Amino acid sequence: KSRNQHEPEFLQAVLEVAESVIPFIEAHPKYKKAKILERMTEPERAIMFRVPWLNDKGEIEINRGYRIQMSSAIGPYKGGLRFHPSVNISILKFLAFEQVFKNSLTSLPMGGGKGGSDFDPKGKSDNEVMKFCQSFMTELFRHVGADIDVPAGDIGVGGREIGFLFGQYKRIQGEFTGVLTGKGNEWGGSLIRPEATGYGVVYFAADMLETRGLSMKGKTVTISGSGNVSQYAIKKCIEVGAKVVTVSDSEGFVYDPQGIDSAKLDYIMELKNERRGRIREYATQYGCEFFEGERPWKIKCDIAFPNATQNEVSADDARILLSNGCICVAEGANMPTTPEAIQLFREARILYAPGKAANAGGVAVSGLEMSQNSLRFSWSGEEVDQKLQQIMKHIHRICVKYGQEKDGYINYEKGANIGGFVKVADAMIAQGLV
Ligand code: NDP
Repeated sequence: KSRNQHEPEFLQAVLEVAESVIPFIEAHPKYKKAKILERMTEPERAIMFRVPWLNDKGEIEINRGYRIQMSSAIGPYKGGLRFHPSVNISILKFLAFEQVFKNSLTSLPMGGGKGGSDFDPKGKSDNEVMKFCQSFMTELFRHVGADIDVPAGDIGVGGREIGFLFGQYKRIQGEFTGVLTGKGNEWGGSLIRPEATGYGVVYFAADMLETRGLSMKGKTVTISGSGNVSQYAIKKCIEVGAKVVTVSDSEGFVYDPQGIDSAKLDYIMELKNERRGRIREYATQYGCEFFEGERPWKIKCDIAFPNATQNEVSADDARILLSNGCICVAEGANMPTTPEAIQLFREARILYAPGKAANAGGVAVSGLEMSQNSLRFSWSGEEVDQKLQQIMKHIHRICVKYGQEKDGYINYEKGANIGGFVKVADAMIAQGLV
């Protein structure tokens, strides 16, 4: 704790895992003797670098770039890149740490990593984003590779950024390899990758509901965020007959009591992905109320998907969700729920799934993209979607296996933490003191 005292998000993520994993380690002394948890909480490598670039006015700008290579016990480092002004070493270490468990749960051979920059893509021209990405990769290229470390997207890094990063890597290395996932379909990307996290979180929620004889059909859903994860979670909710009534961005949320249908979703996608506008425009377009500076959790719902960012569901939000009758919270974002709020969900015995289980669909399909690149082959969208559904079911089974409590309640958090831990820990023991 003292070594990481200036890293609150990282400490929060580690403490959350330690709470469920330490009793398991006590019951299995081989993990204690090998000091597995102590080793897992120290990154194998943390790289930090300068990213200088020229803006459209010809002025020099400097950002800071990072790559945290957390664990390579079960495969090459794998995890997204985040471009957001809030990015710092604590946030990236928390994300990289979570990623190790998440990737392990997918059953695919991927280690854990995360990276990014405090660069803010908002308000930047395509040309400026390209200049930044090229400079970022000009340093990052020496640390990554198809069998070494394979970054993907995250907040602020979508198809456009992955394209610029890939182009620069190819130019420097002179090789066309699967060094990044989330690539375009024409140049090595996997079908269903953009959809995977959003679809996966809805598949996972459906599996959770099934344990109580319920389904998504007819349920009212609140969602935060309006980016990649939220857009495809909305799409899948529409397909399965659930009604999504909120969407948000960092300025506030929109409440649409009629529900977001396919035409409205097309509008959101055009607004956020093409025009890069603000979600308040949706409220004007469809005559809905916009709640400035607020989060959507006060709106009555059966199911909540926090899909924006870390610590966006507080204990007060949890109390309101519970008093409004919410029965299921599945995290599309990473660590969106504070520890106090998780505790309230657990005490109320509602269905609650942490991001490392519920949002693993994205990295799972990234893993499938890596397989397709190695095979120099591509599967159809249906095939990838089938595999995604199987993987989400597999993760659900692991959570039940390790998380079911004496009264039958499934503690998904405990299940995901222990289930993710075992595979990595066994690999570390087998590979000796490295
Ligand atoms: P995007 O950049 O596409 O969208 C992020 C959304 O969240 C935007 O609506 C953004 O609003 C909002 N947001 C970001 N930061 C904040 C903040 N500090 N406060 C309020 N709202 C905020 O990112 P993704 O959809 O890809 O990622 C969303 C979450 O899902 C992240 O936690 C990410 O780590 C996680 N995740 C993503 C995966 C993926 O495959 N993309 C995989 C697994 C997890 P604004 O536009 O105003 O910034």
